[in-house]
Amino acid sequence: MSGPLAAGSVMIQGPVKTFHCTHCQNLVFFENVRCLNCGHSLAFLPDKGLIGALIEGADGLWRAELLPPGSPGYRLCANYDQVSVCNWVVAADDRNDFCRSCRLNRVIPDLTSERNRIAWFRLEVAKRRMLYTLLGLGLPVVPKDGDQNSGLAFEFLEDSHVGDAKRVLTGHDNGLITINIAEADDVHREKERTLQNEPYRTLLGHFRHEVGHYFWDILISSDQKLGEFRELFGDERADYQAALNKHYDQGAPAQWEQSFISAYATMHPSEDWAESWAHYLHMVDALETAGAVGLALRPARSDEPHMGPPPDPLNPRHRDFNSMIESWVALTYVLNNISRGMGLLDIYPFVLSAPAVRKLQFIHATIDEYRSAAGGSA
Ligand SMILES: [Zn+2]
Ligand SMILES: [Zn+2]
Ligand SMILES: [Zn+2]
Repeated sequence: MSGPLAAGSVMIQGPVKTFHCTHCQNLVFFENVRCLNCGHSLAFLPDKGLIGALIEGADGLWRAELLPPGSPGYRLCANYDQVSVCNWVVAADDRNDFCRSCRLNRVIPDLTSERNRIAWFRLEVAKRRMLYTLLGLGLPVVPKDGDQNSGLAFEFLEDSHVGDAKRVLTGHDNGLITINIAEADDVHREKERTLQNEPYRTLLGHFRHEVGHYFWDILISSDQKLGEFRELFGDERADYQAALNKHYDQGAPAQWEQSFISAYATMHPSEDWAESWAHYLHMVDALETAGAVGLALRPARSDEPHMGPPPDPLNPRHRDFNSMIESWVALTYVLNNISRGMGLLDIYPFVLSAPAVRKLQFIHATIDEYRSAAGGSA
Protein backbone atom coordinates (compact mmCIF):
# COMPACT_ATOMS: atom_id res chain seq x y z
CA MET A 1 0.00 0.00 0.00
CA SER A 2 1.31 3.45 -0.75
CA GLY A 3 0.00 6.99 -0.37
CA PRO A 4 -0.94 8.83 2.77
CA LEU A 5 -3.26 6.11 4.10
CA ALA A 6 -0.57 3.45 4.23
CA ALA A 7 -0.06 2.24 7.77
CA GLY A 8 3.43 2.92 9.03
CA SER A 9 4.56 4.53 5.81
CA VAL A 10 6.62 7.28 7.40
CA MET A 11 10.26 6.64 6.72
CA ILE A 12 12.11 7.87 9.73
CA GLN A 13 15.76 7.72 8.72
CA GLY A 14 17.90 8.62 11.64
CA PRO A 15 16.80 11.06 14.27
CA VAL A 16 14.75 13.85 12.72
CA LYS A 17 13.33 15.53 15.78
CA THR A 18 15.63 18.44 15.17
CA PHE A 19 13.95 19.89 12.14
CA HIS A 20 15.77 22.16 9.71
CA CYS A 21 14.40 24.39 7.00
CA THR A 22 15.30 22.38 3.91
CA HIS A 23 16.11 25.61 2.03
CA CYS A 24 18.53 27.38 4.40
CA GLN A 25 19.13 24.75 7.13
CA ASN A 26 17.86 27.10 9.82
CA LEU A 27 16.64 25.19 12.89
CA VAL A 28 12.85 25.16 13.00
CA PHE A 29 10.16 23.62 15.16
CA PHE A 30 7.68 20.91 14.26
CA GLU A 31 4.84 23.44 14.49
CA ASN A 32 6.38 26.18 12.28
CA VAL A 33 4.73 27.40 9.07
CA ARG A 34 7.42 29.82 7.95
CA CYS A 35 11.20 29.93 8.18
CA LEU A 36 12.15 33.09 10.07
CA ASN A 37 15.54 33.10 8.35
CA CYS A 38 14.73 32.73 4.64
CA GLY A 39 10.97 33.32 4.64
CA HIS A 40 10.03 30.08 2.89
CA SER A 41 6.71 28.46 3.71
CA LEU A 42 7.26 25.35 5.76
CA ALA A 43 5.14 22.26 6.13
CA PHE A 44 5.47 18.83 7.65
CA LEU A 45 5.62 16.18 4.94
CA PRO A 46 4.00 13.13 6.55
CA ASP A 47 5.32 10.78 3.86
CA LYS A 48 8.90 11.90 4.53
CA GLY A 49 8.70 12.51 8.26
CA LEU A 50 10.33 15.94 7.99
CA ILE A 51 9.66 19.65 7.68
CA GLY A 52 10.16 20.87 4.12
CA ALA A 53 10.58 24.36 2.68
CA LEU A 54 7.94 24.62 -0.04
CA ILE A 55 7.61 26.62 -3.23
CA GLU A 56 4.28 27.08 -4.94
CA GLY A 57 4.31 26.10 -8.62
CA ALA A 58 2.32 27.61 -11.50
CA ASP A 59 0.00 24.58 -11.27
CA GLY A 60 -0.95 25.57 -7.69
CA LEU A 61 0.91 22.61 -6.19
CA TRP A 62 3.65 23.00 -3.63
CA ARG A 63 7.02 21.39 -4.12
CA ALA A 64 9.77 20.69 -1.67
CA GLU A 65 13.22 21.60 -2.95
CA LEU A 66 14.74 18.50 -1.45
CA LEU A 67 12.72 16.24 -3.74
CA PRO A 68 13.89 15.46 -7.28
CA PRO A 69 12.52 17.73 -10.04
CA GLY A 70 9.31 16.31 -11.48
CA SER A 71 8.11 14.96 -8.11
CA PRO A 72 4.32 15.12 -7.95
CA GLY A 73 4.15 17.81 -5.28
CA TYR A 74 1.70 18.51 -2.52
CA ARG A 75 -1.36 20.51 -1.62
CA LEU A 76 -1.50 22.26 1.72
CA CYS A 77 -3.97 20.62 4.10
CA ALA A 78 -7.26 22.54 3.92
CA ASN A 79 -6.84 23.38 7.60
CA TYR A 80 -3.45 24.90 6.78
CA ASP A 81 -4.64 26.82 3.75
CA GLN A 82 -7.94 28.09 5.08
CA VAL A 83 -7.92 28.24 8.87
CA SER A 84 -4.23 28.00 9.87
CA VAL A 85 -4.55 25.30 12.50
CA CYS A 86 -2.38 22.77 10.68
CA ASN A 87 1.04 22.68 8.98
CA TRP A 88 0.89 19.33 7.20
CA VAL A 89 0.52 18.64 3.48
CA VAL A 90 -1.51 16.23 1.38
CA ALA A 91 -0.02 14.32 -1.58
CA ALA A 92 -1.13 15.83 -4.91
CA ASP A 93 -2.80 12.57 -5.97
CA ASP A 94 -4.72 12.19 -2.71
CA ARG A 95 -8.36 13.16 -3.19
CA ASN A 96 -8.82 14.14 0.44
CA ASP A 97 -8.56 17.89 1.17
CA PHE A 98 -7.25 17.14 4.64
CA CYS A 99 -3.92 15.77 5.85
CA ARG A 100 -3.51 12.50 7.73
CA SER A 101 -4.11 14.28 11.01
CA CYS A 102 -7.04 16.53 10.07
CA ARG A 103 -8.96 13.84 8.20
CA LEU A 104 -9.41 12.06 11.52
CA ASN A 105 -11.65 14.90 12.76
CA ARG A 106 -15.34 14.14 12.99
CA VAL A 107 -16.44 17.20 14.98
CA ILE A 108 -14.49 20.43 15.42
CA PRO A 109 -15.41 23.32 17.74
CA ASP A 110 -17.83 26.08 16.75
CA LEU A 111 -15.48 28.60 15.15
CA THR A 112 -17.70 31.62 15.58
CA SER A 113 -16.03 31.99 18.97
CA GLU A 114 -12.46 33.33 19.13
CA ARG A 115 -11.89 31.26 22.26
CA ASN A 116 -12.85 28.10 20.42
CA ARG A 117 -10.53 28.94 17.53
CA ILE A 118 -7.62 29.18 19.96
CA ALA A 119 -8.70 25.96 21.66
CA TRP A 120 -8.89 24.15 18.34
CA PHE A 121 -5.41 25.30 17.33
CA ARG A 122 -3.98 23.97 20.58
CA LEU A 123 -5.84 20.69 20.19
CA GLU A 124 -4.49 20.18 16.67
CA VAL A 125 -0.92 20.96 17.75
CA ALA A 126 -1.12 18.30 20.47
CA LYS A 127 -2.82 15.80 18.18
CA ARG A 128 -0.19 16.11 15.46
CA ARG A 129 2.64 15.61 17.92
CA MET A 130 0.98 12.45 19.20
CA LEU A 131 0.39 11.21 15.64
CA TYR A 132 3.99 11.89 14.65
CA THR A 133 5.17 9.40 17.27
CA LEU A 134 2.51 6.82 16.36
CA LEU A 135 3.50 7.01 12.69
CA GLY A 136 7.17 6.83 13.56
CA LEU A 137 6.50 3.70 15.62
CA GLY A 138 4.85 2.12 12.58
CA LEU A 139 1.43 1.98 14.22
CA PRO A 140 -1.71 2.14 12.08
CA VAL A 141 -3.42 5.52 11.77
CA VAL A 142 -6.53 4.82 9.73
CA PRO A 143 -9.54 7.15 9.62
CA LYS A 144 -12.76 5.74 10.98
CA ASP A 145 -14.59 7.12 7.94
CA GLY A 146 -12.87 4.49 5.82
CA ASP A 147 -12.90 1.73 8.42
CA GLN A 148 -15.84 1.83 10.81
CA ASN A 149 -14.64 -1.19 12.80
CA SER A 150 -11.04 -0.40 13.52
CA GLY A 151 -10.47 3.20 12.37
CA LEU A 152 -9.76 6.26 14.51
CA ALA A 153 -11.71 9.53 14.76
CA PHE A 154 -11.78 12.59 16.98
CA GLU A 155 -14.53 14.88 18.15
CA PHE A 156 -13.77 18.11 19.97
CA LEU A 157 -16.86 19.04 21.95
CA GLU A 158 -17.89 21.90 24.18
CA ASP A 159 -19.97 21.75 27.35
CA SER A 160 -23.47 22.95 26.61
CA HIS A 161 -24.40 26.00 28.63
CA VAL A 162 -28.03 26.15 27.62
CA GLY A 163 -30.95 24.16 28.94
CA ASP A 164 -29.94 21.06 30.89
CA ALA A 165 -26.23 21.71 31.16
CA LYS A 166 -24.45 18.80 29.52
CA ARG A 167 -20.88 18.04 30.43
CA VAL A 168 -18.67 16.55 27.78
CA LEU A 169 -16.56 13.70 29.08
CA THR A 170 -13.14 13.26 27.56
CA GLY A 171 -12.84 9.60 26.62
CA HIS A 172 -12.62 6.85 24.04
CA ASP A 173 -15.30 4.61 22.60
CA ASN A 174 -14.55 2.12 19.83
CA GLY A 175 -12.06 4.32 17.97
CA LEU A 176 -13.86 7.61 18.59
CA ILE A 177 -11.89 9.90 20.88
CA THR A 178 -13.82 12.74 22.49
CA ILE A 179 -11.98 15.69 23.98
CA ASN A 180 -13.70 18.40 25.97
CA ILE A 181 -12.29 21.58 24.41
CA ALA A 182 -12.24 23.26 27.84
CA GLU A 183 -9.07 21.21 28.40
CA ALA A 184 -7.33 23.55 25.95
CA ASP A 185 -7.95 26.41 28.37
CA ASP A 186 -5.01 26.72 30.77
CA VAL A 187 -7.05 28.09 33.65
CA HIS A 188 -9.66 25.34 33.41
CA ARG A 189 -7.11 22.57 33.01
CA GLU A 190 -4.93 23.75 35.88
CA LYS A 191 -7.97 24.06 38.12
CA GLU A 192 -9.00 20.49 37.26
CA ARG A 193 -5.48 19.28 37.85
CA THR A 194 -5.48 20.82 41.31
CA LEU A 195 -8.97 19.58 42.17
CA GLN A 196 -8.09 16.04 41.07
CA ASN A 197 -4.76 16.24 42.87
CA GLU A 198 -2.92 15.29 39.68
CA PRO A 199 0.80 16.05 39.26
CA TYR A 200 0.52 16.34 35.48
CA ARG A 201 -2.30 17.30 33.14
CA THR A 202 -1.74 18.43 29.57
CA LEU A 203 -3.58 18.30 26.26
CA LEU A 204 -0.88 16.09 24.82
CA GLY A 205 -1.23 13.79 27.82
CA HIS A 206 -4.97 13.50 27.18
CA PHE A 207 -4.40 12.57 23.55
CA ARG A 208 -1.76 10.00 24.43
CA HIS A 209 -3.94 8.47 27.14
CA GLU A 210 -7.10 8.21 25.04
CA VAL A 211 -5.30 6.83 22.01
CA GLY A 212 -3.91 4.18 24.38
CA HIS A 213 -7.45 2.86 24.86
CA TYR A 214 -7.80 2.72 21.07
CA PHE A 215 -4.58 0.78 20.65
CA TRP A 216 -5.59 -1.69 23.34
CA ASP A 217 -8.48 -2.65 21.04
CA ILE A 218 -6.12 -2.90 18.07
CA LEU A 219 -3.11 -4.62 19.63
CA ILE A 220 -4.41 -6.84 22.43
CA SER A 221 -6.39 -9.09 20.16
CA SER A 222 -5.04 -12.62 20.53
CA ASP A 223 -5.77 -14.86 23.52
CA GLN A 224 -2.08 -15.04 24.27
CA LYS A 225 -1.72 -11.26 24.33
CA LEU A 226 -4.81 -10.93 26.49
CA GLY A 227 -3.39 -13.47 28.94
CA GLU A 228 -0.11 -11.56 29.20
CA PHE A 229 -2.00 -8.30 29.61
CA ARG A 230 -4.15 -9.64 32.46
CA GLU A 231 -1.14 -10.98 34.31
CA LEU A 232 0.42 -7.53 34.39
CA PHE A 233 -2.53 -5.15 34.51
CA GLY A 234 -5.39 -7.25 35.88
CA ASP A 235 -8.70 -8.29 34.34
CA GLU A 236 -10.16 -5.54 32.19
CA ARG A 237 -13.61 -7.15 32.45
CA ALA A 238 -13.90 -5.78 36.01
CA ASP A 239 -16.99 -3.56 36.39
CA TYR A 240 -15.86 -0.16 35.14
CA GLN A 241 -18.57 1.96 36.77
CA ALA A 242 -18.02 0.31 40.16
CA ALA A 243 -14.28 0.91 39.83
CA LEU A 244 -14.86 4.54 38.89
CA ASN A 245 -17.18 5.15 41.85
CA LYS A 246 -14.74 3.50 44.22
CA HIS A 247 -11.86 5.57 42.89
CA TYR A 248 -13.69 8.86 43.36
CA ASP A 249 -15.01 7.81 46.79
CA GLN A 250 -11.86 6.38 48.29
CA GLY A 251 -8.98 7.52 46.07
CA ALA A 252 -6.00 5.39 45.16
CA PRO A 253 -5.00 2.57 47.54
CA ALA A 254 -2.12 3.16 49.97
CA GLN A 255 1.34 2.63 48.50
CA TRP A 256 0.01 2.62 44.98
CA GLU A 257 3.35 4.03 43.83
CA GLN A 258 4.89 0.60 44.30
CA SER A 259 2.91 -0.94 41.42
CA PHE A 260 1.32 1.83 39.38
CA ILE A 261 2.54 4.66 37.23
CA SER A 262 -0.08 7.13 38.51
CA ALA A 263 -2.93 7.27 41.02
CA TYR A 264 -5.45 7.23 38.19
CA ALA A 265 -3.91 4.02 36.82
CA THR A 266 -5.09 2.21 39.99
CA MET A 267 -8.71 2.81 39.03
CA HIS A 268 -9.15 -0.03 36.51
CA PRO A 269 -6.87 -2.27 34.40
CA SER A 270 -7.97 -0.37 31.26
CA GLU A 271 -6.88 2.93 32.82
CA ASP A 272 -3.62 1.39 33.97
CA TRP A 273 -2.92 0.42 30.36
CA ALA A 274 -3.91 3.86 28.98
CA GLU A 275 -1.76 5.64 31.57
CA SER A 276 1.19 3.36 30.85
CA TRP A 277 0.70 3.83 27.11
CA ALA A 278 0.75 7.62 27.51
CA HIS A 279 3.95 7.39 29.54
CA TYR A 280 5.51 5.17 26.92
CA LEU A 281 4.81 7.82 24.26
CA HIS A 282 6.19 10.57 26.54
CA MET A 283 9.38 8.54 26.88
CA VAL A 284 9.70 7.82 23.16
CA ASP A 285 9.14 11.44 22.20
CA ALA A 286 11.62 12.82 24.73
CA LEU A 287 14.30 10.24 23.96
CA GLU A 288 13.96 10.83 20.26
CA THR A 289 14.54 14.54 20.79
CA ALA A 290 17.42 13.94 23.22
CA GLY A 291 19.09 11.60 20.74
CA ALA A 292 18.53 13.95 17.82
CA VAL A 293 20.26 16.86 19.57
CA GLY A 294 23.09 14.64 20.83
CA LEU A 295 22.19 15.11 24.47
CA ALA A 296 24.27 13.11 26.93
CA LEU A 297 24.85 13.37 30.68
CA ARG A 298 28.39 13.06 32.00
CA PRO A 299 28.30 13.70 35.74
CA ALA A 300 31.42 14.25 37.84
CA ARG A 301 30.37 11.52 40.29
CA SER A 302 29.66 7.98 39.19
CA ASP A 303 26.58 7.69 41.42
CA GLU A 304 24.82 10.52 39.63
CA PRO A 305 22.57 10.06 36.59
CA HIS A 306 24.64 9.18 33.57
CA MET A 307 23.36 9.00 30.02
CA GLY A 308 25.19 8.20 26.81
CA PRO A 309 23.47 9.31 23.59
CA PRO A 310 20.07 7.65 24.02
CA PRO A 311 18.87 5.02 21.54
CA ASP A 312 16.55 6.27 18.82
CA PRO A 313 13.23 4.75 19.91
CA LEU A 314 11.74 5.11 16.41
CA ASN A 315 14.48 3.10 14.77
CA PRO A 316 13.65 -0.63 15.00
CA ARG A 317 17.35 -1.48 15.16
CA HIS A 318 17.99 0.79 18.15
CA ARG A 319 14.92 0.06 20.21
CA ASP A 320 16.52 -1.66 23.17
CA PHE A 321 14.06 -1.27 26.03
CA ASN A 322 16.60 -1.47 28.85
CA SER A 323 18.73 1.32 27.40
CA MET A 324 15.61 3.36 26.78
CA ILE A 325 14.44 3.11 30.37
CA GLU A 326 17.93 3.77 31.78
CA SER A 327 18.24 6.89 29.64
CA TRP A 328 14.73 7.98 30.57
CA VAL A 329 15.30 7.74 34.32
CA ALA A 330 18.54 9.72 34.06
CA LEU A 331 17.04 12.28 31.72
CA THR A 332 13.93 12.92 33.83
CA TYR A 333 16.02 13.50 36.96
CA VAL A 334 17.92 16.23 35.14
CA LEU A 335 14.87 17.69 33.39
CA ASN A 336 13.00 17.89 36.70
CA ASN A 337 15.94 19.64 38.31
CA ILE A 338 16.13 22.19 35.51
CA SER A 339 12.40 22.71 35.71
CA ARG A 340 12.63 23.37 39.46
CA GLY A 341 15.39 25.84 38.72
CA MET A 342 12.92 27.76 36.59
CA GLY A 343 10.32 27.71 39.36
CA LEU A 344 8.14 25.31 37.41
CA LEU A 345 6.57 21.99 38.28
CA ASP A 346 8.56 18.86 37.47
CA ILE A 347 8.44 18.02 33.79
CA TYR A 348 7.99 14.35 34.67
CA PRO A 349 6.53 14.17 38.19
CA PHE A 350 6.47 10.37 38.43
CA VAL A 351 8.55 7.59 39.93
CA LEU A 352 8.82 4.39 37.93
CA SER A 353 8.53 1.29 40.14
CA ALA A 354 9.66 -2.10 38.82
CA PRO A 355 6.07 -3.27 38.10
CA ALA A 356 5.34 -0.01 36.25
CA VAL A 357 8.48 -0.55 34.16
CA ARG A 358 7.35 -4.10 33.30
CA LYS A 359 4.08 -2.65 32.02
CA LEU A 360 6.01 -0.21 29.81
CA GLN A 361 8.14 -3.09 28.58
CA PHE A 362 5.01 -5.03 27.66
CA ILE A 363 3.78 -2.06 25.62
CA HIS A 364 7.18 -1.78 23.97
CA ALA A 365 7.18 -5.48 23.02
CA THR A 366 3.57 -5.31 21.83
CA ILE A 367 4.38 -2.44 19.47
CA ASP A 368 7.45 -4.29 18.14
CA GLU A 369 5.40 -7.43 17.54
CA TYR A 370 2.80 -5.43 15.63
CA ARG A 371 5.49 -3.71 13.61
CA SER A 372 7.26 -6.88 12.57
CA ALA A 373 3.95 -8.63 11.80
CA ALA A 374 2.96 -5.66 9.61
CA GLY A 375 6.33 -5.90 7.86
CA GLY A 376 7.23 -2.33 8.80
CA SER A 377 10.94 -2.05 9.40
CA ALA A 378 11.56 1.53 8.32
ZN1 LIG B 1 14.88 28.73 5.73
ZN1 LIG C 1 -4.08 19.05 8.48
ZN1 LIG D 1 -8.88 6.41 30.20
